[in-house]
Amino acid sequence: MAADSDLARLTLHEAGALLAANTVTSTALTEACLARIAAVEGSVHAFAHLTVEVARAQARARDQTRPDPLPPLWGLPIALKDNICTRGLPTTCGSRLLANFRPVYDSFVARRLEEAGAVILGKTNMDEFAMGSSCENSALGPTHNPHDLTRVPGGSSGGSAAATAADECLAALGSDTGGSIRQPACFCGVVGLKPTYGRVSRNGLVAFASSLDQIGPITKDARDAALLLAVIAGHDADDSTSAREPVPDYVAGLDVGVAGLRIGLPKEYLSGGLDPEVEQAVGFAIATYERLGATTVEVSLPHTEHAVATYYLVATAEASSNLGRFDGIRYGVRHEGHDLLDLYQRTREAGFGAEVKRRIMLGTFALSAGYYAAYYGKAMAVRTLIRNDFTAAFERCDVLLTPTAPTPPFCLGEKLDDPLTMYLSDIFTIAVSLAGLPAVAFPCGATKQRLPLGAQLIGRPFDEGRLLAMVHAFEAASGQGRMAPAL
Ligand code: GLN
Repeated sequence: MAADSDLARLTLHEAGALLAANTVTSTALTEACLARIAAVEGSVHAFAHLTVEVARAQARARDQTRPDPLPPLWGLPIALKDNICTRGLPTTCGSRLLANFRPVYDSFVARRLEEAGAVILGKTNMDEFAMGSSCENSALGPTHNPHDLTRVPGGSSGGSAAATAADECLAALGSDTGGSIRQPACFCGVVGLKPTYGRVSRNGLVAFASSLDQIGPITKDARDAALLLAVIAGHDADDSTSAREPVPDYVAGLDVGVAGLRIGLPKEYLSGGLDPEVEQAVGFAIATYERLGATTVEVSLPHTEHAVATYYLVATAEASSNLGRFDGIRYGVRHEGHDLLDLYQRTREAGFGAEVKRRIMLGTFALSAGYYAAYYGKAMAVRTLIRNDFTAAFERCDVLLTPTAPTPPFCLGEKLDDPLTMYLSDIFTIAVSLAGLPAVAFPCGATKQRLPLGAQLIGRPFDEGRLLAMVHAFEAASGQGRMAPAL
């Protein structure tokens, strides 16, 4: 059996195979992750809350009963982003306003994970209410990129990506509204999948922008993403936007290969302004697919330049409405006032961070009488144009390949004073979210300084299986193993 410290490095499928063969216990896997957490968490800070005793008890319980057949994640230690409700466990969204919140119910995905037998190590750090691209907007302090501790892990699911990359867990769940799974996965050198809108239930995900939010896997490879997606995907009557589309066998579909596939290269995403090392890594991914028998075709997404502006109207408008519920009465900081309204005002003033306030104000303005048609109404119209761009592109190709982020991971503090440049780090992920399409970020290179670089594959609605098979094919053909962080 592998030495304990090595167990944390395993993928879900490797660890699952050892568990199935009875050569390792869930307790050994869990202790290996906890040992790794003890060793590196002081410098990475990927977790908002560790649930050590819960994890140990779950692992013990998994070891005591072994159902036949073994459920897909039986005994495997994973981590959840801190905006995914877990009964009795902290769910604080990186906000002072929810500092003491312990939900009385499990999210749909937490229930699915429990049924699948997973062990929950803790809740991962994030930008407050998922608003950010660097994990620096957390009331709990920033997460550091495990490949270079002076750099950001990306955001908002930076904790999930960093924990997975640093082998503090075998895999994690994140959430993505405009890139929050894909961009941190890219910055940390792991695989991050944003499913089609409606593929995974949002029930129990604390809402940021309800027409965009999706939960998805952040994993060490494509097979793990397939395994995890299979567990969390499917219809949920408690989410009115949940899709009834049948869930294919993602794991069985991994080996279909890429021969004959037409890969669209959106010219607006690949022209000018791209960091040369990012461009080179994306070029390597394209060349690898061509070598495997895929063809490429240039396509156009003409409304790309409006995507960021559209997103920051739609997302902030929805956020201003969704965050109206946080009155501060019960779950976090509470500042007394001379009447109820005063209490709300003082509490929200003290409880929300600067970025969240900025979004609430922008969104409230965009929705206000007199401006609604000019801002929100216009943004919704442009959103339709952006969606139509993708529909037209998919008439000429099967998938799209783009960069995930325009630059390698940037330094902590580098963009904090300039929200607009921070917003632009999501330039390649945001249009996909507005269109509701599935997309996966995967590692395909590194900078000279050994920082991870990645590409993004975008699919037609519900084509997650094809995206994962393509990443799987790339992993096998590129000969690039996962880049271990120099921790
Ligand atoms: N970085 C983007 C934002 O700040 C996307 C966040 C997300 O996907 N949750 O809104």
